[in-house]
Amino acid sequence: GLDAAFFTRWLTACAAAVEREAAHLTDLDAAIGDADHGSNLQRGFRAVADTLAKDEPATPGAVLTLAGRQLISTVGGASGPLYGTLLRRTGKALGDAPAVGRAALAEALGQGVAAVAQLGGAKAGDKTMLDALEPAVAGLGQSYADAARAAADAAEATTPLQARKGRASYLGERSIGHQDPGATSAALLIGVLAETAE
Ligand code: ADP
Ligand code: MG
Ligand code: MG
Repeated sequence: GLDAAFFTRWLTACAAAVEREAAHLTDLDAAIGDADHGSNLQRGFRAVADTLAKDEPATPGAVLTLAGRQLISTVGGASGPLYGTLLRRTGKALGDAPAVGRAALAEALGQGVAAVAQLGGAKAGDKTMLDALEPAVAGLGQSYADAARAAADAAEATTPLQARKGRASYLGERSIGHQDPGATSAALLIGVLAETAE
């Protein structure tokens, strides 16, 4: 199963991936938002990586809840509380197990995604991070690679949609024709999960 060190490796690799993709994520947000999604996630994941470098919690659940707290306290934008809730609720669902298998992670991540939907009031098809997260959970029931592929495909599939939640929804029909930044970052984080698990 996946232990605390695995989850620390995943989140540290997420921080590196966010650094690499920050400009792209901010460009996507410039088209239909306020051009800060990359910098929001940079701030948040730098804090996550710094915290986990100092203090590695003993269980997967504790790593995820600590990281979620960091995102909530450091990111001002909508994505901070949403991703923070995702990690905290997933961590809570894992409880104090010292290691978790893929099926248990899929189940816990499903609870985390449900908490994001509850907090933000969005559903799949509203052109948000949920569009990528929900298929990722379904794919994780099969394999890490399936989760990554499903999330990437779903992020691309947000392009023709009109945004129904978040800042992009203020644009109405003008949000059509642009890939959602949060769905794109969600696919990035799930892609890094699959790479870390390989
Ligand atoms: P902000 O919109 O506050 O500037 P970010 O730019 O960091 O925050 O994040 C924007 C992303 O957050 C969007 O692309 C979308 O995927 C996601 N998002 C916004 N509102 C919601 C919501 N209510 N539910 C789920 N995801 C949302
Ligand atoms: Mg923004
Ligand atoms: Mg903003």
